[in-house]
Amino acid sequence: MASNRTLWRRMRQSARIFVFAQRLIDHPTTSAEAAEGIRSRLARRPDIFLETLERTVYAHADSPYRPLLDAAGYDLSRVRSLVGKEGVESALRRLCSDGVYVSIQEFKGIQEARRGDRVFRFNERNFTNPIAGSGSGLSVSSGGTSGRPIATEISLSNFQLGAAHLATALAAYGLEGKPAIMWLTITHGASLWGVLSLAAVRNPVAAWFSPFPVSLLGGDRLPASYLSLRLWGRLRGSSLPGVTHVPFGQESRILAWMGSSMANGCAILTTPSCALRLALAAARKHARLTGITFVTIGEPLTPAKLATIQSTGARAFSSLGFTEFGRATYGCASPVTPDEMHVCRDALAVVQRKRVVDHAGTEVDALMFTSLLPNARRILLNMETGDYGRMTTRSCGCPLEVLGWTDHLQDIRSFEKLNAEGRLFFGSQLISLVEQTLPQRFGGDPTDYQLVEQEDEEGLTRLSVHVHPRLAGIDENAVRDCIEVVLSEAAPAAAVLWRKADTVRVRRAPPIVTRTGKLMPLLRLDLPDQSSHQDLVTVGSV
Ligand SMILES: [Zn+2]
Repeated sequence: MASNRTLWRRMRQSARIFVFAQRLIDHPTTSAEAAEGIRSRLARRPDIFLETLERTVYAHADSPYRPLLDAAGYDLSRVRSLVGKEGVESALRRLCSDGVYVSIQEFKGIQEARRGDRVFRFNERNFTNPIAGSGSGLSVSSGGTSGRPIATEISLSNFQLGAAHLATALAAYGLEGKPAIMWLTITHGASLWGVLSLAAVRNPVAAWFSPFPVSLLGGDRLPASYLSLRLWGRLRGSSLPGVTHVPFGQESRILAWMGSSMANGCAILTTPSCALRLALAAARKHARLTGITFVTIGEPLTPAKLATIQSTGARAFSSLGFTEFGRATYGCASPVTPDEMHVCRDALAVVQRKRVVDHAGTEVDALMFTSLLPNARRILLNMETGDYGRMTTRSCGCPLEVLGWTDHLQDIRSFEKLNAEGRLFFGSQLISLVEQTLPQRFGGDPTDYQLVEQEDEEGLTRLSVHVHPRLAGIDENAVRDCIEVVLSEAAPAAAVLWRKADTVRVRRAPPIVTRTGKLMPLLRLDLPDQSSHQDLVTVGSV
């Protein structure tokens, strides 16, 4: 019975994707129309924000933001007057400092929200957009904290907005109308999005490579309607690619496929890790990637990764996105740091809030996101995503700034998640792995184990599990197996990808202590307080 129900659900889902994509392909957007839309939304930005707030928050008594606004004494007219006097960002900063924000733990329901003597409890479903309608959109899933995926529905107009932003970025990089390649797993939230968006802006999608084979029954399954969609797209003058399996380590097959035909310009949408793999494969073959532009998603574009990519003659621009909003930023076309990006401010406002992120007292400027448009995927009002970074203002002169995306973000990192190969894993689950699961199974205590996220000598992000050498008789393969079981239960897609990419490694080394003298169960070597290797000491002697 259960399998019949699953089959029926998949068929219904597949049919919905078909109808959705048909409507998308039938109403293509040009980059000129996209730019016009951005300008017109920016011209009315404060009014649009206030209208959205009225319709999605103040008109709904059960909105999670209502108690936060009430507790801080903000009725709509007070917010309206604040926005009128000080502008959107300044008003949002004021709201944030008065307690109108949602931390990542509060959003996920891991922690209750305490504001003064009031206590609230939320979960992810509370933040559904009450006016977006449901049933006709495209449903995408993100990993929930319990390992159960949470569905977010994307309306057609929200999808078209995201496609228009992508077209705008490609035009800024000189890639309008140039072939685009997707190199992402099918299960990655951005892969089908990218393929359909490129089709919706009539940018030819030349190929889709996936590190995993297409599965008929497993996780890497295309919607059953995808084949008919490809035929439909072709009839309507739009191209949707088939999926070609290229396992990690065989990137030279992509190079061979591209040959010299992409030298006149080609966009590759992928993760920084996969872009790096292609660059390393090119370097091994003494090949150049001139004409290739990577638009990277899913993880930070770090200096080490970008340097190797650029050494082959390719370019790379970063982009930050999350399931609850979509693509939030696109890389500056004249960047001064590897991941300098412009906020898509016609649809989004970003402010910062100082917060402590670990037991060592490390403080970061967390990014707080507010969705401005009524078709937003989720209602975000000073919502934390678990990322921090630097907001800057400078005149870069690139087309994205000229268009009005004047807010710059850079050095974006996550303080709450491990991030490798474009897949995330939440810190709180890893901490219980280090502090409970591993000591219980293999002996020792929580100070004998540590998870360290760090780039290796080639620039690939690795997750090293430090096991103190003083623990005798430990089978390192058993430790690795145990970690993989925990990962598979909590984040199946990340676990499969990390296994194939050999991301998790066990090291017999003492855990590392930060310069403030703390031993963190989860250590990311690029957090501000932990950035310098010279400042780190190891515990005990080997
Ligand atoms: Zn710029």
